[in-house]
Amino acid sequence: MSKLPNVTTSIFTVMSKMAAEYNAINLSQGFPNFPVDERLTDIVARLSKENVHQYTPMAGYPPLMSKIAKLTQSSYGRTINPELELLITAGATQGIFTSILALVKENDEVIILDPSYDSYESPVLLCNANPVRVALNDDYTPNWGTIEKACSQKSRMIIINNPHNPTGKILTEADFLQLEKILSKYPDLLVLSDEVYEYITFEEKHISAHTKNFLLDRCITVSSFGKSFHITGWKIGYTIAPEHLMKEIKKVHQFLVFSVNSISQAAISEYLDVVDVNLLGKFYQGKRDYFLKLLQNSRFELKPCEGTYFQVASYAAISDEDDVTFCKNLIINHGVAAIPISTFYSDHKDQKLIRFCFAKDNLTLEAAAKKLREI
Ligand code: PMP
Ligand code: GLN
Repeated sequence: MSKLPNVTTSIFTVMSKMAAEYNAINLSQGFPNFPVDERLTDIVARLSKENVHQYTPMAGYPPLMSKIAKLTQSSYGRTINPELELLITAGATQGIFTSILALVKENDEVIILDPSYDSYESPVLLCNANPVRVALNDDYTPNWGTIEKACSQKSRMIIINNPHNPTGKILTEADFLQLEKILSKYPDLLVLSDEVYEYITFEEKHISAHTKNFLLDRCITVSSFGKSFHITGWKIGYTIAPEHLMKEIKKVHQFLVFSVNSISQAAISEYLDVVDVNLLGKFYQGKRDYFLKLLQNSRFELKPCEGTYFQVASYAAISDEDDVTFCKNLIINHGVAAIPISTFYSDHKDQKLIRFCFAKDNLTLEAAAKKLREI
């Protein structure tokens, strides 16, 4: 008997595989295709000959941990104790999984806001707990009224993803006020804040859970170096939580992973001395604007994008097909891969929307846009 009977291969894997099979331009799965910063690859090359190849301490390589504490201070003004409140993880995925496994018990409820990233529901089900999927408004703002109605004494966790995959929406100060109101009514409710795109916002600045005092004692924040440094394949990130939660998270981590690969930790530790994460937003804003311009005269209608490296587009003017069929045909007939948005909803509702990843070099964006304009 399967423990996850409804889980199939993730849409990101399916679409990337199909893109490769048909030799299509892959704007589906979210990963950059441009070279990594040479400063980082130079550090790795040098470190590969140094003594950084054995287990690090369980929670992480101490120099990296203190650099992350500094980064959290400079980005958000939050002081953390790296020894007690920080864990280096094998990507944000592991931070999410480990936190849910450590903190959610049988029959608890976990609120997930749809459209939602695919990593949230399965760990909840593996805890024999119940995911409660609550739809965002049509403009992808949270409907705090509906969220509050979904809360009960059984609610253990609410998962927020800010900036939001796939919609590119970011939370506002008003959203945090509403969240605070709900939390004040449910003292045992925790927040898992998935902030893997924290440094990728555009006109409006990202508001991190780290900056909210009411969250510090009850929030687990998840970050990804894969997203921030264009190294998704390294699978490295980190999780910050107050000591009483982190103690439990580490108990799971030590048997799931023990320690994350050492050379990545050592390399990122050095790289943090020279890289400026604050340049990332501008960099991707340029990509977003370029992609938008390239598609201006297409029949796709591009939705607002405040952050992340994803662009949602409507194809309603082009086809009546459901979005999964449309994406498959887009690969087969037009040579471009995208992600159908229905796969981010529990009811798979089709709204004729697809997601493009614009974390690509300009030549790729131009070639893809040329094909898309011809549709
Ligand atoms: N959360 C969101 C919203 C994501 O888009 C992704 C995809 N990269 C992750 C978590 C996982 O990040 P990582 O690759 O660091 O595991
Ligand atoms: N986060 C990536 C995306 O949204 C996918 C990563 C994965 O394939 N697990 O495209």
